[in-house]
Amino acid sequence: MIKLTNILNEMSEVNDDLKIDLLDTTVNRKILSLILKSHPELPIKLKDYIRHSDTKQYRKDYVYRKIEDFINTKLGIRDSEVVIGVALFYLINPLVGDPKTEEMYGAKDIYHSFIQFTGDEIDEFTETDTEECDECIGYGYEDCGYCDTDGEEVCGECGGDGFVEDEDGEEGDTLDCGTCNGSGVVECDECGGAAEVDCRECDGNGTVDVEYTRYDLPINTMRFISFQKLDYQNLDEYKYTPISDFHSKNEEKKYFLWVNDIEFESARDNTDDLVYDKNELIETQQNKISLYDIKYML
Ligand SMILES: [Zn+2]
Ligand SMILES: [Zn+2]
Ligand SMILES: [Zn+2]
Repeated sequence: MIKLTNILNEMSEVNDDLKIDLLDTTVNRKILSLILKSHPELPIKLKDYIRHSDTKQYRKDYVYRKIEDFINTKLGIRDSEVVIGVALFYLINPLVGDPKTEEMYGAKDIYHSFIQFTGDEIDEFTETDTEECDECIGYGYEDCGYCDTDGEEVCGECGGDGFVEDEDGEEGDTLDCGTCNGSGVVECDECGGAAEVDCRECDGNGTVDVEYTRYDLPINTMRFISFQKLDYQNLDEYKYTPISDFHSKNEEKKYFLWVNDIEFESARDNTDDLVYDKNELIETQQNKISLYDIKYML
């Protein structure tokens, strides 16, 4: 463990500093210095990231993952606030060489914003659902139509008489029918005497598979970091899609896609049940980064 005790001790003492400058703290500088020593490739990787920073998620980028991994495993600190603080501190100081001594940018004018919008396509999936059989209401059986639920049928051997002609005897002599033992009826061949047979609709399962179409509309929540306010005006009157309009409005500004969460709104059988339309702007929000944001900026 690298100086972990020292770092943790300092962390408890720097709270006042944090209020003045959220990211430029002794602790963040020390941690960053350790990371850069053990990952000299990070400055190049960070430059790569920054080139595509408006559409590429920092939280999923190599740089963020290395920082997170280092803090978690090498320093043994499992605190997302620390990870986010250091990762953000490094993101806004891409040219840093020696974090311990160089002048660095803190977090006085950083904005955290999000834009939530639906995607431009609705995905269709054919799915199968198991439902109770309508025909037998889940019972699995139906009345035997062959014996009309009697469970028995007329004996085919004696035609229901119960006796057959005795071929060895005199004319007119009869014997009890061996097939039905003289009763004239036998068990129904169809239902075996049960008076019920498997429901034809569901093959006796009580349930049937029903195919339906599921429609998924993606809902994107993109969180950005920027050094100046981003323009969210009139995105609901977009020309193409809310997000493409957002990018073109803010072309001149530098901003970073922190994370893009994608959820889906689903509807069954038709799209009328979807609350949102395609390419709909749902919500935007923008505020200066505070300690609170850093804690909860997930
Ligand atoms: Zn059935
Ligand atoms: Zn029957
Ligand atoms: Zn018979």
